[in-house]
Amino acid sequence: MNCPHCNNPIDEHEATRCLDTWVADVVMGYTTSPGLLWTSRKSDHRVPKYSTEIEEAWEVANALVGMNWKVFIGIDMKDGNYCRLEWHDPFDPKWNQFMARGTNAPLAICRAALKAKSK
Ligand SMILES: [Zn+2]
Repeated sequence: MNCPHCNNPIDEHEATRCLDTWVADVVMGYTTSPGLLWTSRKSDHRVPKYSTEIEEAWEVANALVGMNWKVFIGIDMKDGNYCRLEWHDPFDPKWNQFMARGTNAPLAICRAALKAKSK
C-alpha cells in the first residue's frame, strides 16, 4: 500500500504532515480536505501530529484498541522503536499481525496502523 498523496510505501514514509493526513483518513476515519490539514472532527479541526507527537500517536493506539486490536509498542537495542498489532478473527483461527518500525515511536505506531487498516 502506498500513500495516496505522495505514493511512498508505508515502511519508507517519513514522519510528515502527509503521513498524518493519511492516518487521519484511513485509521481515524476523519475526512480531510484535499491538500489541507483540516479534518471533519468537531472540537479541533487541525490534523493531529500523529507521526511526531507521542500524545497524538497515543490517540491512534487507543483507536486501534477500540477496534479490538492488541497493541504492543516497544524499543529494542538493535532496530529501535517498533509497534506490533494483533487481531484475532473469531471465525478464523489464525491471528492477523502487523509490525512496523520507525525512528520514533509515533512513526512506528502510524506505520503499523496504516498496514492494519489498509489491508
Ligand atoms: Zn505521503
